[in-house]
Parts: sequence; structure tokens; C-alpha cells
Amino acid sequence: MTRSSAPRGTRDIVDLDVRAFRRLEERAGERFAAYGYEEIRTPSFENADLFSRAVGDTTDIVEKEMYLFEDRGGRPLALRPEGTAGVVRAYLEHGWDQTCPTKKLWYGGPMFRAERPQAGRYREFWQIGGECFGNPSPQADAETLLLVRDILATAGLTNGVRFLVNSIGCSVCRPVYRDVLKNYLEARKSDLCENCVRRIDRNPLRALDCKGDGPRLDDAPLMADHLCEACRLHRDEAYSLLQSVSFPFEEAPRLVRGLDYYTRTVFEVTAPSQGSQDSIGAGGRYDGLVKLLGGPETPAVGFALGIDRVARALQAQGFTPPAVPKIFVAQAGIGTTPVAFTLAQKLRTFVEGGRMPPVEMGASTKSLKAQFRAADSWGADWLVLVGEEELKKGNVVLKDLRRHAQEEIPLAQVADRLFNRVSVEPKL
Ligand SMILES: [Zn+2]
Ligand SMILES: [Zn+2]
Repeated sequence: MTRSSAPRGTRDIVDLDVRAFRRLEERAGERFAAYGYEEIRTPSFENADLFSRAVGDTTDIVEKEMYLFEDRGGRPLALRPEGTAGVVRAYLEHGWDQTCPTKKLWYGGPMFRAERPQAGRYREFWQIGGECFGNPSPQADAETLLLVRDILATAGLTNGVRFLVNSIGCSVCRPVYRDVLKNYLEARKSDLCENCVRRIDRNPLRALDCKGDGPRLDDAPLMADHLCEACRLHRDEAYSLLQSVSFPFEEAPRLVRGLDYYTRTVFEVTAPSQGSQDSIGAGGRYDGLVKLLGGPETPAVGFALGIDRVARALQAQGFTPPAVPKIFVAQAGIGTTPVAFTLAQKLRTFVEGGRMPPVEMGASTKSLKAQFRAADSWGADWLVLVGEEELKKGNVVLKDLRRHAQEEIPLAQVADRLFNRVSVEPKL
């Protein structure tokens, strides 16, 4: 029989990855709460048209990367390629636009895109993100950036993290700028890559951050020089708020977002990982999206962090989660099973340094030798041997497996010895 493998572009998240994921998710949850966000869990799939409306029919995501399927009733569905559309849908579906327009919601979970798999890029990838509705002030933009930095910092990622920020204008000034840029690109059509030529009409802004091998458009007109008065004021205030708390952002005049609903502030977060500076998250203001999905005019700002990417960056910086000592309870001889069983249960109620050390038990059907092997492959730090002979004296053997030391101690003292960090003297 051939064994099954995980589908192309997916993987099991195990070991260090899973610990990095959990650390980020836990810390993020705490930071979101501190900023007044509530958690929301939306479905992993939605009606397909939600994404074609929100993300746009002409984007790569919707055109080429969505996992589309029909349910048994023939309804077109899609695995979510991103998190924002579902949260906006929920915001409207629950009537929060009426009852609580200034809601802040955060989410975490897997997203799905049929991209070409490459290092750090998966077809099922994990994101954590926040959406802040109903606040048109630049302070919401600035606060969002602070929150992102807080989340990364409490998860342990600070070194080399860069925040690139730009304003991409609004529905008043962007169309004017778009025409200016279009004219510029038309004049250089022969230099542009195939993708950019195709985009001139639909999405000329993307030519500015083209990853193709066309020439650098160094003299291209920039949005920053074409912002309307309101957008300029908004940008300046956001920047001055960030400066007032010494937030280390960088202006990135060529940073754009592929999606039309973004307005004004957009940002990208990068971190060093395996030799290159990788994008680990992005966000911005999207004052147009709630209306696009059938709601009232509602300002909003949000972001998403790629958990896979952050975990990669954490590991590139040598992240190792603090080790919790593991305790293995072995048994040997008649009448030892109930004692070992009860002891393991008791040890599982203790907390050391704010965390509960894992406690595992050897199987009563296995030889002592097999139990030692199990303790070893499990990575046990301590082994408590409940043996028939010692038990007659009310004792057990406590082995420090890291230092190869052992000692016979009263059964009643095991927890004290393990959890008060009393060291065992070598008796070998
Ligand atoms: Zn504007
Ligand atoms: Zn290009």
C-alpha cells in the first residue's frame, strides 16, 4: 500500500513551527485585547461572489488562485483566500454597522490560495489580522501600526523589522494620478514587462512595485505628489502621530496595494529571514470596502500578518521557546501501576514557572527497558521509577536524565523535589 502525503503546497505544522505559531497566536490575542479588539471566527469558506466583489474579479487572487467548488446544492463557494472580506461580511450581517459602528475585530486561521509553492509560501497559509471599523481619523492608522509592532515584539520578533508606509490617496485624487501614471507608462510601453503592459488600463499602480525584470521606473510620477488636500493632511497627521511615539517607520513612495478598496494609508512589514528581507504582513485603510459589500459608507483600517512568515523569521533569529522539563513516570513490579497512575495524575496538577510541565507514563504492558526507551524518545528530563522493592519502603527512584544522576526518595516528596527545583546529587 502506498502511503498518502499532504497535498502539494500544504504541510503539517509540527515541532518548532507549531510552538512558534502558538506563541504568536497567544501573544497576539493578548495584544489585540489591550487595543480593544474582540475575536471573531468566520467560516473557512464563503459564497464565492463575496471574494469577487471584495477582492475584485480582475485580481490574480480571484482569477487564478481561488479554490472554487460547488456544494451539493450547486451553490458556488470558495475557500477564503484572505480574511478581511469575511469579517466585513460578518460586520454587516450582524448589523454592527447600525448597533456598534466602531467595532474592532480580530481573527486568525488558515487561508487558501493555489499559488506556486515556494520557500515559506504555502497553498494553505495562516494569518492573523485585525479590522478596525468606523474610525476615519489618522489616529486609527497610526494605532494599527503600533498594534502590529506590539504583537511582533511580544512574540519576540524585533530585530530588523521594517515598517514601510505610504499613502495611495482616495477616490478623488487617485483617478487623477492614475491617468498621469497611465500616460507615463504608455510612453514606455516597449520597456515594460508583459504583466505591466496588461495592467496599464486595469491596475497601472502595480507597475510601480513590479517584481518582473523590466527597467526600474525611477522617474515615474508618484502618488505622494498627487494627493488631494484631505489626503495630504491625513497622511501628515498619521506620520506625526507615529513620530510622536518614536515609531520607526519608513516612507515608501512606491508601495501600492493591488486592491482598489484601499485608501490613503497602506503599509508593509518586512523582517529578515534566511538571508533575505521577507514580507511578513501588510495592511492599510480601506474606506471603500464596507460600501462595496452593500453596507453604508464606513471608514476602516486593518492588517494581516502571515503566521508562517513570522514563524520563519522568528526561527531565522534563533527563536527557541523556553523549555519546560518533561517528566516520565515508569513502573516495575506487582502493585505499582495504581501508584504510578495516581502519581502521574498528581504531577499533572503542578505549575512550574507559570507553565505545566508535560507528564507521561510508561505503559504497564511494557518492560522497564522499553519504558526507558520510550522516556528517551519522548525527550524526558526526569524519570520517576515506581518499583516494587522501593515501594515497600514508601520510596521511588528519581532520575535526573540530563545529568545522569539518581536518588531514592519518599514517594510523598516527589512533587516537592520536582517543582521546587531541588537538585539531585549525583549518586552514580
Ligand atoms: Zn485624496
Ligand atoms: Zn512589470
